[in-house]
Amino acid sequence: MNFCSTRDPQMRVPLSRALQDGMAPDGGLYVPAAWPAQEALAGAGPAALDLLAARLLAPFFDGEALAAQLPAVAAEAFNFPAPLTPVAGGAERLSVLELYHGPTAAFKDFGARFLAACLARIARPDRAELNILVATSGDTGGAVAAAFHGRPGFRVVLLYPAGRISALQLRQLCCWGGNVRSYGVRGSFDDCQRLVKEAFRDRQLRGALPMSSANSINIGRLLPQIAYFASASLGIRAAEGVNASFVIPSGNLGQAVACAWARQLGLPISEILLAHNANRTFPDFLSDGRWRPRPAIATIASAMDVGDPGNFERLSSLYRDHETMRTRIRAVSVSDEAIRSSISSEYRQAGLVLCPHTAAAAHAYRMLPDSAKRDSHWVLAATAHPAKFQETVEPLVDKTIIPPAAFARWRGAPLEAEEIGCDLDGFRARLLAA
Ligand SMILES: *Cc1c(COP(=O)(O)O)cnc(C)c1O
Repeated sequence: MNFCSTRDPQMRVPLSRALQDGMAPDGGLYVPAAWPAQEALAGAGPAALDLLAARLLAPFFDGEALAAQLPAVAAEAFNFPAPLTPVAGGAERLSVLELYHGPTAAFKDFGARFLAACLARIARPDRAELNILVATSGDTGGAVAAAFHGRPGFRVVLLYPAGRISALQLRQLCCWGGNVRSYGVRGSFDDCQRLVKEAFRDRQLRGALPMSSANSINIGRLLPQIAYFASASLGIRAAEGVNASFVIPSGNLGQAVACAWARQLGLPISEILLAHNANRTFPDFLSDGRWRPRPAIATIASAMDVGDPGNFERLSSLYRDHETMRTRIRAVSVSDEAIRSSISSEYRQAGLVLCPHTAAAAHAYRMLPDSAKRDSHWVLAATAHPAKFQETVEPLVDKTIIPPAAFARWRGAPLEAEEIGCDLDGFRARLLAA
């Protein structure tokens, strides 16, 4: 199958090109040029995540050398589970989709590992080292570093907003050494994202360094995320005969796109409700149809601090106009205060210990009218393990959160990273120097 740019529907590139480019040359984002026939899904049922991923994604790999390796890629990326756990108590059907059982305890491990597994299998004639540039609001960087660390042929360069991520996240970004390098940008996540985009457009850098991106602007991150929305919805339909509806903590809108693509593929998904934090660019767009990106505001759900969500372009290429988008997706903005009270009340009332991002989604769900809850089984996408945000969560639930075993690796890691300014010059010089 071919992919085109959100800004040029006539363009055609194969998947391997889209994966290596990261962003389309015209500054747009790659999207599928066509959708596989929904009949292909008839009879699909629950299956192991890696097998389901290989089956669902096969049409996107059609005609590629990489197609033969898709089962191996999926097995490598999906080597940890995404359990769907029913929430006890309450009359309605609600489950939590736990997406945080990977090496860095956030859903981004799925996409980062899938992308790394693909890129490692694409033969590159020039054999030059590929530079993976990543802007991170906290969780992406760790996941990408973990996925590429020690892989020959790759160098990872991480940019994060200095002083705006948790202590544990900082350790996760800075503990690697080897082929991973981190820079703290004196600015916001949007500044980091802009620097990466500028680096891609910069003539001098383009000429000197093969570069790709592992942000959710890279389609190789988003495609695998379809698989867990598929798995959860197929499991629910098989068990209860109803569709799933998802409530998703959202920032850069990558998960939103993956879930919308899952529904586009014909999976049994009814509603998609996005929970943003105080960064309300997308919820505001849905209400009045005007796209007004703005500087990011720092919140306690920091991985969603995005004022100019990159994947909006993909949503608008799927749902051509504002009216259509409004009927297909809903979004709300949740304040820090509501997130805090959601963390404590979900613990008291449902026994759930949630990270701040997932707590925003829980709040959005609780605000739904009963009529919206009746016809489907709602699923809360739990995007990170609460131990990643221990400083925020522990006082609110008044108990110690036991971290996953993988965390031992970060605890003792040194906290060193160089800080850089928001302008391309400093970043360019560092990229070229190494
Ligand atoms: C990245 C992230 C989000 C936001 O996901 P998007 O795909 O950028 O919308 C939400 N929660 C956590 C924990 C994250 O790391």
